[in-house]
Amino acid sequence: MELCIIGSGYVGLVSGACFAEIGHTVVCVDNDQRKVDMLQRGEIPIYEPGLEDLVHRNVAAKRLRFTNSIADGVDHSQVVFIAVPTPPQADGSVDLTYIERVAREIAGVLKPGQYRVVVDKSTVPVKTGEKVDATIRRYNPAAEFDVVSNPEFLREGCAVPDLMSPDRIVIGSASQKATDLMKRLYEPFQSPILVTDVNSAELIKHAANSFLSLKISYINAVSAICEASGADVEMVADGIGTDKRIGRNFLNAGLGYGGSCFPKDVKAFIAIAEELGTPFHLLKEVERINSHQLDRYLKKVREALWVLRDKRIAVWGLTFKPDTDDVRNSVAIDLINRLVAEGAIVTAYDPKGMEKAVEYKLIPPSVKLVSSPLEAVEGAEALLLATEWKEFARQDFAAVKASMHTPLVFDGRNHFNPKTMREMGFVYYGVGRP
Ligand code: NAD
Repeated sequence: MELCIIGSGYVGLVSGACFAEIGHTVVCVDNDQRKVDMLQRGEIPIYEPGLEDLVHRNVAAKRLRFTNSIADGVDHSQVVFIAVPTPPQADGSVDLTYIERVAREIAGVLKPGQYRVVVDKSTVPVKTGEKVDATIRRYNPAAEFDVVSNPEFLREGCAVPDLMSPDRIVIGSASQKATDLMKRLYEPFQSPILVTDVNSAELIKHAANSFLSLKISYINAVSAICEASGADVEMVADGIGTDKRIGRNFLNAGLGYGGSCFPKDVKAFIAIAEELGTPFHLLKEVERINSHQLDRYLKKVREALWVLRDKRIAVWGLTFKPDTDDVRNSVAIDLINRLVAEGAIVTAYDPKGMEKAVEYKLIPPSVKLVSSPLEAVEGAEALLLATEWKEFARQDFAAVKASMHTPLVFDGRNHFNPKTMREMGFVYYGVGRP
């Protein structure tokens, strides 16, 4: 089939490459000319394992191309995906200006007699599909189209495998013709397809991300009780997570959730519920617990170092999770900014996130970014682990200890083995474990 994806970011580009890989012909559209130029030169603007090979292979096979023209994309495609940003506004509700603009742009280029399925892949509030439908009709009353909701559940860092074999594919549609086309499109993935109405599909995405955030906050709240009682949150998480009804995933105590999705989607769901007159107080508590985790962690650092002003602190990790270069809303970035605000001298290292942290000016210029984990700890009075990249656990800790001024380790993701660290002579602090 011939498809077009409007928005070539983490979702649009990876989806486009995966659709091409299973044999569809895909045009990826973006209005950021710099991004389109890079992609046309064969450069990949984001880091995602396996993506570069996938893009190069499918461009060479002429199944994938890039353009800045929505007209070009829509003209050549039966199915038009929208994968543009849906950022939060100051009050937590979703800024839908990107979606509305794309809806108008699609309306402007739809030709008479040219049936198209317009698929919303961006995460949007329930009832957005109705608005997209009405907008396209208002700007182009003769257009022949259906609007479908197809929320995306990929995780950054493993987006390619997530897209190639998803747990489920949700298709929210009111039209049999559109549903049949969507089923044909997704058939090669051989994953379960759940067909719903449009509103339910939209709601599934916010409900899913809010539930996962809730799970993280739940174990983080348990971690505080573990610290107060001397229990070990890792053992507690294993003990409850092996219950199939609960599951071990997303029960990792740490600095809390961050990234471009969970914080904004929880906020959005709170705002959506509020607007519908059914306030979701539980999710406000999820947010409170989440921000409290970083406060609790910093308190531990202060208890050990006392005043942070002029203290040399090494931070390992900038990205919101491992195996990505995404630093948007990363707790590691919040941590660094809080340390600097208290006068600490921060040196940081991240395998993939340093370039974007600098490009988007997310950390103060006083933070020294270095080229290896070992360089970061030179003369440090404490090492703070903020992102659980595998390479951090593989370091030569004898060399790390020899290089540090004081061997204090604050493991914000319970990534290291406390017993091993202590045997090596580190003073080790984890989250929720003795
Ligand atoms: P992104 O910022 O990485 O990419 C969005 C792209 O859209 C950018 O390249 C931008 O230049 C482009 N764009 C904006 N306006 C445009 C327009 N008018 N025409 C053409 N291109 C335009 O965002 P993302 O992380 O891919 O997220 C996109 C949506 O998918 C959001 O709603 C997000 O909540 C949702 N989502 C994201 C993830 C994730 O892990 N990143 C997972 C599931 C769902």
